[in-house]
Amino acid sequence: MTAPNGSVPSQGVGEILALFRSRGPLTRSEVMDSTGLARSTINQRLDALLAAGLIVPAGESISTGGRRPGRFAFNAEVGITLVADIGASGLRTAACDLAGVVLAERATRINVATGPREVLGTVGRCFEELAGEVGRAPEDVKGVAVGVPGPVQFATGRVVSPPIMTGWDGFDIPGFFRDRYGTTVLVDNDVNVMALGEQRASYPDVAHLAFLKVGTGVGFGIVAGGQVLRGTQGAAGDIGHIRVTVPDDTEQPVCICGNVGCVEAYAGGWALIRDLRAAGRTVETVDDVVALIRAGDPSAVRLARRAGRILGEATADAVSLLNPSVVVIGGQLAHADEQLLAGIREVVYQRCLPLATRSLQIVRSSLDLRAGIIGLARLLADTILAPDQLDSLPAR
Ligand SMILES: [Zn+2]
Repeated sequence: MTAPNGSVPSQGVGEILALFRSRGPLTRSEVMDSTGLARSTINQRLDALLAAGLIVPAGESISTGGRRPGRFAFNAEVGITLVADIGASGLRTAACDLAGVVLAERATRINVATGPREVLGTVGRCFEELAGEVGRAPEDVKGVAVGVPGPVQFATGRVVSPPIMTGWDGFDIPGFFRDRYGTTVLVDNDVNVMALGEQRASYPDVAHLAFLKVGTGVGFGIVAGGQVLRGTQGAAGDIGHIRVTVPDDTEQPVCICGNVGCVEAYAGGWALIRDLRAAGRTVETVDDVVALIRAGDPSAVRLARRAGRILGEATADAVSLLNPSVVVIGGQLAHADEQLLAGIREVVYQRCLPLATRSLQIVRSSLDLRAGIIGLARLLADTILAPDQLDSLPAR
C-alpha cells in the first residue's frame, strides 16, 4: 500500500485496519483507547488508510454535547476478490467483497480430468463475466483463490500427484491467474476451505472443527485453534486413503491412488458407482447414486450403510486425534437421506472416548455446496488484509 506522496505508510497501519475489521465503525478516540497510541500516530495511520480507500468516513457517533466525533469504518468495497471452487464434475465461481461477502456467483458443469488449461480457461471466463456483472475492472481485483479436489502444496499453490485430477500434477495454477490479474493468488485443497467457510460463517465461536466431504472422493479438512491445519506440505487430514478392514470382504478393492482397501475405495462416490454398476444398476454420476439411495433401492441402501460405517471409523480416528467440537458432513453424498450420517454418528460415538464426544456435534453442512466459495473468500480476505501483507494492496 502506498501513501499519496508515494511513501510506504508507517508500520502498524495493518493493526489499525484489523481493529476496524473486527470491531466495526470507530472514532479516533476509540482507536486511541484500544491501542494506547498517541493521537499524532493514530492520525498518521488513519490518513494512510483513508488515502488507500481501506477505511471511509462512516457518519457521526452519538455524543452528549459539543461537536460530534466522526467515525470511520472498514471499506469492504475498495476492491473485489474472485474465487473458484473446482470439484470433480462441478465448478462454482464467485465475485466477493473484501469482507468475504459473495456479490455474484455461478455454478458450471466441468470435468476436472480434461486438464488444467481447459478447466482454468472456463474459470477465467466465469471470472470475467462475474467482474462485469458487479461492474468491476481487472485492476479492481485484489486477490484470486482457487480450491481443488486434490492435494495442494500450499506454499507454491501446486497440485501434487492428485488421484482424480488427470494432467494437473505440478501445474502452476497461481502463474495462470497472476499473468492476468497481477495479484495474490492462493490455491488450497477444497476441503480445507470448506472447513474454514463453515467455521467462519456457521460456527464463529468454535475453534476446533472438522469437515468431512463425501463426493466423488473423500476429503477431510481441519480447523484447529481457528486456523486451517495443513501440516508441513498441505497434506494433513487425508483420511480418504487410510486403510480399513471390512469383515467378510476377502478381496479389498483397488483405490485410484494405487493402494488397496482405502476408505475412499469403499465409500467415495466413484466406488459406489462401481459397486452399483456391478449390481446391475445404471448409474453415471454421484447424483445418480444419491437418487437411488433416496429411492430406497436395496443395493444402494446397503452400500450407503456400509459407506457410513467405514466413514465413521475414519472419522472416529480423526476425532480421537483432534478432539473437535463440531464435525460437519458435506459433499453430494451428504444428500443421501440419513443412511450415511446415521452410520457415521453411530461408529464415532461407539469408538471414541466419552471426553472426546461429550460436547461433539456431528451435523450436515448448512452452507452445503457454497461452503467452498465462502471459505475461499474468507481465506483471501484474511490473507491480503493481514497486517504483514498490507503493502501488497495498492492505493486506489
Ligand atoms: Zn487410496
